[in-house]
Amino acid sequence: MVEQGMNKDDDSFRDIISTVDEDGRRKWVFPKKPKGKLTNYRTYLSYFLLAILFLNPWIKIDGEPMLMFNILTRKFVLFGQVFWPQDFYLFALIMITLVVFIVLFTTIYGRIFCGWICPQTIFMEHVFRKIEYLIDGDYKHQIQLNNQPWNLEKITKRGAKYSLYYLISLLISHTFLAYIIGADELIRIQKSPVQEHLVGFISIIIFSWVFFFVFAWFREQVCLIVCPYGRLQGVMLDRNSLVVAYDYIRGEGRAKYKKNEDRKKENKGDCIDCNQCVDVCPTGIDIRHGTQLECINCTACMDACDFMMEKTNQPKGLIRIDSENAIAENKPNKFSTRSKAYTAVLLLLVVLIVYLFTLRGSMEATILRTPGTLFQEQENGMISNLYNVKAVNKSNKDLKLTFEVMNFEGTIKMVGSDTLYLPKGESSQQAFFVHISKDKLFTRSTKIKIGIFSDGVLLHENKTTFSGPEE
Ligand code: SF4
Ligand code: SF4
Repeated sequence: MVEQGMNKDDDSFRDIISTVDEDGRRKWVFPKKPKGKLTNYRTYLSYFLLAILFLNPWIKIDGEPMLMFNILTRKFVLFGQVFWPQDFYLFALIMITLVVFIVLFTTIYGRIFCGWICPQTIFMEHVFRKIEYLIDGDYKHQIQLNNQPWNLEKITKRGAKYSLYYLISLLISHTFLAYIIGADELIRIQKSPVQEHLVGFISIIIFSWVFFFVFAWFREQVCLIVCPYGRLQGVMLDRNSLVVAYDYIRGEGRAKYKKNEDRKKENKGDCIDCNQCVDVCPTGIDIRHGTQLECINCTACMDACDFMMEKTNQPKGLIRIDSENAIAENKPNKFSTRSKAYTAVLLLLVVLIVYLFTLRGSMEATILRTPGTLFQEQENGMISNLYNVKAVNKSNKDLKLTFEVMNFEGTIKMVGSDTLYLPKGESSQQAFFVHISKDKLFTRSTKIKIGIFSDGVLLHENKTTFSGPEE
């Protein structure tokens, strides 16, 4: 990493944060409005992801939301599948697998998630920053407005901008709450008087001000200071990882552009030192110093530099997605054996996550012979055993369970109600007798299988033993 940049020995930029001055005061970043092919792609993707984010709580699968993380009732829903506390090990396993997936993905493909998919970046760059450009203008106007005294123009623009910011923050906090308590509960809160749901109301207000604070003031500091994923980049990235990188071999010997010059003859590098890559950077860094923790891989500098390269009739890609090794060796990036192996592991992890989902049935049950009971001989030549069933309903609908002996001609007689009623997300138990004809039993202990059905559909099979008299 040290090798990149104009002055290989000058590593002083690593001692400071780009957004803090020598006195420790915040340096406000006024990034230039980015434009270009990648910016367009990023914008389309962000609108698509925003639509998913806002619609998700309202989309239902079998009556359950697409995603819900109700930490209050410990009910988690992933793609319509309810994970009750009994499934927590599975939920934790899926989450751990996802973390491993993210680490491996970052090692090979870099930090592309931050710049293209992370909700913080999407809201900051594609919602709040766009409103800022619309009201305050591009970066030069923003700086001018910031420095001017509080006159009518500044009050009006600040008022309009922050009012819109707060309205959007309120919308985000409602959506955020819908992910926690569910959309139905959110509507119920909205429709009933405030005093009936004071906690919900206060939560919405607190969240809305937190979001307002983050997007109006804290901004890129989330990525630079708070985000753990950002902080871990140093250990996840290596010289073969794909990152947004400046080709210092090609670019150095940087010098301003002069019309009709022959830069090769004059021994100048391709970088025309126009500073456009720095101007557009939302975290205020100079990518020409090399890979830095502050770089969120948003690719805005790639667009800016490509534009300048085109203008000066030079090949595009002076700043591009590449590995440090490929740039140092001046060779195209090779998909190394390690990258192939990691990609294979990534695919396996996807299969594992899908498999973990399928492991989870709609119910779980244990059937045990009631302790301390013996078999009973009935007058009609039948032998009966008493059992106890404990069942957990992990589906999102109430179940009425019936039982059948699967591998013997036997009958089941429930104690009490004919069916075991199991409300969704709850557990219940009931006792029942199994009757098997004496002439079908050849040993003292016979292995039997009991099937558990709901609406005629077999949900679960349970093995247990049936005790009978000695032959
Ligand atoms: S250096 Fe480039 S890719 Fe990195 S954050 Fe700045 S503009 Fe985005
Ligand atoms: S945009 Fe490209 S040419 Fe301009 S300063 Fe940055 S790297 Fe150099």
